[in-house]
Amino acid sequence: MQTSAGLRARAEVDLAALRGNVRALRSRLGPGTALMAVVKSDAYGHGALPVARAALEAGATWLGTATPHEALALRAAGIGGRLMCWLWTPGDPWREGIEADLDMSVSGLWALREVTAAAREVGRPARIQLKADTGLGRNGCQPADWPELVGAALTAQAAGLVEVTGLWSHFACADEPGHPSIAAQLDVFRGMLAYAEKAGVRPEVRHIANSAATLTLPEAHFDLVRTGIALYGISPSPGLGTPEDFGLRPVMTLSASVALVKQVPEGHGVSYGHHYVTPGETTLGLIPLGYADGIPRHASDRGPVLVDGVRRRVAGRVAMDQFVVDLGGDTPAPGTTAVLFGPGDRGEPTAEDWARAAGTIAYEIVTRIGSRVPRVHVNG
Ligand SMILES: *Cc1c(COP(=O)(O)O)cnc(C)c1O
Repeated sequence: MQTSAGLRARAEVDLAALRGNVRALRSRLGPGTALMAVVKSDAYGHGALPVARAALEAGATWLGTATPHEALALRAAGIGGRLMCWLWTPGDPWREGIEADLDMSVSGLWALREVTAAAREVGRPARIQLKADTGLGRNGCQPADWPELVGAALTAQAAGLVEVTGLWSHFACADEPGHPSIAAQLDVFRGMLAYAEKAGVRPEVRHIANSAATLTLPEAHFDLVRTGIALYGISPSPGLGTPEDFGLRPVMTLSASVALVKQVPEGHGVSYGHHYVTPGETTLGLIPLGYADGIPRHASDRGPVLVDGVRRRVAGRVAMDQFVVDLGGDTPAPGTTAVLFGPGDRGEPTAEDWARAAGTIAYEIVTRIGSRVPRVHVNG
């Protein structure tokens, strides 16, 4: 791989791979099921705007974010179509959400009160989707509170203040096929759907599937699936299969220019705390990325890096801005590209390898790449 002049580090985002992943995911869906591209948290660190555009181009018909601010930023940048956001906090911009035609999730009565008040001010109905807690135990309305929420939403709909466009929920353990909570949540979801529909809700979309359920559980697809991690070419869990098994390709490649290569004697301590001591005379390479850039400090002494065709490991502590690899006597030129992770088919490690090295999940590896690392979008 060629070095890019003047670039300390870069996260290359392959939009052709992203579009391919959208198509691969869509090919698993029946004709009545649409695909939502989940682009929260700056598209899992990949850049929300270019990713949203590429996903829509490849056939996603919905976009999803966590916060309303993320959704409003996409609208402000000119992104049209259906756009849902689900993590609302009291005082959030409901009014702007109505004006921007967002589909806004409502999990409880406080939210319904705020959204109806905003709708009165704006003078048109808000599109809302009622969220059921079918067992995740996080956001969403408990089954015991569902009749009250559904009733209040229908009253607001009759008053022209809201349109209930969706009924939805989220899985706790979809990445563990066969986990008893999956069937239990589906049962509860069907029951809560039946209740709302009998009460008079006519939802345009019913949805519960994340990436893992999209890949492994067709009966959970309903009208819409919400895929995040799989869009980015990462398996929701290594136990489910590799990206390749699912026809997915990792989208992000994180690389840096080797900033310094130097000879050191045996017994030389490396980086803070001297947790690594050179076992013999060797060469060290300085990689100008650190925990401020999202390189997990927990991957100290373990994180894998491809330098000049050879797999190396982090030597010693990851610092805020930099870490060191032991090059074993090799002397690549400063400016040589070091690849921390990528698709994995050119000898480089993957985000999953870094997750294992740091004791976390690949979601966290890509999502935490810091704002100091430029995203370079290719194949747009
Ligand atoms: C993040 C998120 C998703 C996407 O999950 P993946 O496992 O990345 O596919 C779907 N739905 C909700 C509510 C989410 O918060």
